[in-house]
Amino acid sequence: MRAVQVLSPGGPFELVERDIPEPGPRQVRIKVEACGICHSDSFTKLGAFPGIQYPRVPGHEVVGVLDAVGAEVPDWQKGARVGVGWHGGHCGHCMPCRRGDFILCTRAETPGVSYDGGYADYMIAPFEALAAIPAALSSVDAAPLLCAGITTYNALRHSGAVAGDLVAVLGIGGLGHLGLQFAAKSGFHTVAIARGAGKGVLARQLGARHYIDSTTQNVAEELTKLGGARVILATVTDAKSMTAAVGGLGIDGKLLIVSALMEPVEVSPLALIMGRRSIAGWPSGTASDSEDTLEFSVLSGIRPMIEVYPLERAAEGYERMMSGKARFRVVLTTGL
Ligand SMILES: [Zn+2]
Ligand SMILES: [Zn+2]
Repeated sequence: MRAVQVLSPGGPFELVERDIPEPGPRQVRIKVEACGICHSDSFTKLGAFPGIQYPRVPGHEVVGVLDAVGAEVPDWQKGARVGVGWHGGHCGHCMPCRRGDFILCTRAETPGVSYDGGYADYMIAPFEALAAIPAALSSVDAAPLLCAGITTYNALRHSGAVAGDLVAVLGIGGLGHLGLQFAAKSGFHTVAIARGAGKGVLARQLGARHYIDSTTQNVAEELTKLGGARVILATVTDAKSMTAAVGGLGIDGKLLIVSALMEPVEVSPLALIMGRRSIAGWPSGTASDSEDTLEFSVLSGIRPMIEVYPLERAAEGYERMMSGKARFRVVLTTGL
């Protein structure tokens, strides 16, 4: 089979031939059809995540067909179309797992980080990581919903905002273009914030009632004029624009961060105290959250905007995603 691996941190992507792997008793083998390229694949590419063993095949937005099922795997049958996202398995016995909080498992695994991911013709995964893919979704459309989609949808539905609340989505990119659709379809009074006038038309097409151009307008002032945001979903990859938005939170407003940055966000404690505001993060979700995301997307007509590349052009697809020019998610296909 073909696989695209990274040999060492910072090294190039290499297209290699490997033997098709065999699943263990509690694992499955997925014949990969599509795999989204996520900004977090740079953790594997650059070695920015502790403990990655190389060579490693990236990819944690994987959709394909169950091709072999281990002897101890319950319920799943060969031939089912399944997906695996960022949460690629949990131990079942650490304290978070004992409390049923599997996403925060202290030994949680991620495909493409802890084990080889979806930039390949086949992938092995533990059965706990599998989400069923609805027939109404194509594999290329389902793939980005398993990381970019679940992360924004799951963060918003647990944010405390209810229908009618002012909810802003900061950034219109891989995460933000999905976050906007989820916010609008959830009944929030949705505001989009991005750079430049050009994205305003698209923002409205994706469901935003208002558009704030952060290059010419003061984001905090504009949000305050609208009544102050109950939630600002931060999807951008620079912390300074998060800092600039905090003043636009209303009473009990929450800056909810889903983009994985190392850079610190600067906020004055007084800005939080006056208005009882808060800052929080949200870590994607489990396989059942993925299924909820996929079902909600089918119900409400939400789809990612994608650019499709064949597996052998993974390096080019990755550069396209990293350039920030992709509209908006890059998806690899195996042609299987
Ligand atoms: Zn991701
Ligand atoms: Zn655990």
